[in-house]
Amino acid sequence: MKIGDIDLIPLNDGFCRLPQQFYVGLDFERHPELLTDDGKIEIPIGCYLLRTGDRLVLLDAGLGPVSVGWAEGGELPAALAAVGVSPGDIDTIVCSHLHIDHLGWLARDGEPFFPNATVRYGEADWGRFVADVNAEEPTRVIMETLAAAGRLEPLSGDMVAIAPGLTARHMPGHTLGHYCMVVSSGEERAFLLGDAVECPLQLDEPDFYAISDVDPALAARTREALWRELEGSQAMIAAAHFPGLEFGRVLRGQGKRWVSI
Ligand SMILES: [Zn+2]
Repeated sequence: MKIGDIDLIPLNDGFCRLPQQFYVGLDFERHPELLTDDGKIEIPIGCYLLRTGDRLVLLDAGLGPVSVGWAEGGELPAALAAVGVSPGDIDTIVCSHLHIDHLGWLARDGEPFFPNATVRYGEADWGRFVADVNAEEPTRVIMETLAAAGRLEPLSGDMVAIAPGLTARHMPGHTLGHYCMVVSSGEERAFLLGDAVECPLQLDEPDFYAISDVDPALAARTREALWRELEGSQAMIAAAHFPGLEFGRVLRGQGKRWVSI
């Protein structure tokens, strides 16, 4: 996919298979399409590769090569290789937030997996997910490995320039340090929302939320402000866990608010 002059490539590291309780307040009898045959919510673990000029930027770094009760990862390196990219080619990684399914590949065996990449992440996530958890937590181990290697550059404030045409935008609620990526080139724009929006259905049914939201009320306000900004525009929307890593647009005055493209 092209956004003006910028290449945008969705990549999938694996899948989460979650119990229905993960979506708080959603009536699944009205939305059986969200469930597998055995009644689970199955969602991809998405990452996005962005090529802008001579820069190669990765948004989110998957779960990593592990299988846990609720998720399986491990496909990201092969997905990168399939588009001709090796880990050493990536110069910048932006972690939308510090949940493990967004940073699992950042370090393996005590070394940064992407040897030339600077890793950007929301500074406000450091306490809750790194400093205040026990020393064996995978997120802490990975982030401290990167810190020791001098690869971290935290994000603070809003609208941080990452690379030409790429801006990190602070969208708190899912976590307090959550950032989205705005891709802008020529007349075209895309918004890569991380976990600020978990499912496109949240547009038309704004009362449900993911149990992993740290501050659900703030997350809901952040989403609603975003929809008001984007409705009726041609901006392309995607996120880390939308089914099939689909893209869509936000409609205005058409009886529904989301259309897949
Ligand atoms: Zn996630």
